[in-house]
Amino acid sequence: MPLDVVVVGSANLDLVATTPRLPGPGETVLGSHFAQHPGGKGLNQAVAASRSGAAVAMIGALGNDDAGRTLLAVAECERIDVSQVAIVAATPTGRAVITVDARAENSIVVIPGANELAHVDQLPAAIGPATVVLAQLEVPIATVTAAFALARAAGIRTMLNPAPAPLGSLPDELLELCDLVIPNEHEVELLGGVERLLTSGVGAVVVTRGAAGVTVTERSDDTPDRVVWSVDAFAVDPIDTTGAGDAFCGALAARLAAGDDLRDGVRYASAAGALATTVHGAVPSIPTTEAIRHVLQR
Ligand code: ADP
Repeated sequence: MPLDVVVVGSANLDLVATTPRLPGPGETVLGSHFAQHPGGKGLNQAVAASRSGAAVAMIGALGNDDAGRTLLAVAECERIDVSQVAIVAATPTGRAVITVDARAENSIVVIPGANELAHVDQLPAAIGPATVVLAQLEVPIATVTAAFALARAAGIRTMLNPAPAPLGSLPDELLELCDLVIPNEHEVELLGGVERLLTSGVGAVVVTRGAAGVTVTERSDDTPDRVVWSVDAFAVDPIDTTGAGDAFCGALAARLAAGDDLRDGVRYASAAGALATTVHGAVPSIPTTEAIRHVLQR
C-alpha cells in the first residue's frame, strides 16, 4: 500500500510536573502530580494524520533507551510505519521537562537529544503520486531541506510547519522547496510575514489564528497577484489549546493526500484543530476522522 503522508520530525517524551506555583531560581517546591506523555511535533502530527485515515510513515531518531522504546510503541499502536526511525547510540531520546502551576502557567525545557541526529538519505520506497511530506523544525533544518529536495525531485507535495520558528528568516534554499507553509500568527511574524515567504518561492501560506480561524494566501500561476481567502474557526469551548496546531497540520496532510483541494482540506483541518482544544494534552486530544466528520456535518 503506498504511503499517504511521510512525517519528518521529532518525538519527545514529555515529563510534566504539576505544582501550586512555579519554583524560582534555587527554590524547591513540592509538586502535586507527575505524568509522562508522548510528544514532539513530528510524532503528534504523524498521529493526527493517521487518525484521519492516512497511511503514515515517520522519519526521525530516538535514543536506545526506555523513553525511545515507549515512543516507538506509541507510534506502532497508532499504525505509524517506524521502519525509518533511527535508534541512535549514546544520545538520549528527546525530552521536554514541563512544570505547570495551578493557574496553568508553565515553564518548559526541551532537550532535543536524538532529534538533532535525525537525517534523511532517502524517502521510503512506498511513496505514491499523492504522498505528502510534512515536516516541522524540531529536527535540523538541513534534514528538512534534504527531505524536501528528495520529495520535489519525486514530484511529491511538501508541507512545512515552521515551529518552533527561528528568529529571522528561513534559508531560501528551504523555502523554495515548500509547496505549503503553515505557521501560526506568532511564527509568521518571526519569519518576516506572508509576503516574504511567498516571494522566496513558497506556493501558499496557511496562517492558523487560533479562535480567529485560518487565512490562506496563494501565489497565482500567471499573475503577480495573490489569492487570499479565510476559513472561520468552528465554535467550541476550549479547555487546553496544546496540540491544536499539530492536529491541524496532520489532518490537512491526510486530506490533501486523499485528494481534497486546499479549501476542503483547510476546513477539515480546522475542525480537527477545534476538537483538539476540547481535550487536555497533545496526543490524547488529537481527534479521529469520525469525530471530525461529525463536527463538519453540524
Ligand atoms: P498553534 O497551536 O500552532 O498555536 P492555533 O492556535 O492557530 O495553532 O490552532 C490551529 C487551528 O486550530 C486554528 O487555526 C483553528 O482552526 C483551530 N483552533 C485553535 N484554537 C481554537 C479555538 N479556541 N476555537 C476553535 N478553533 C480553534
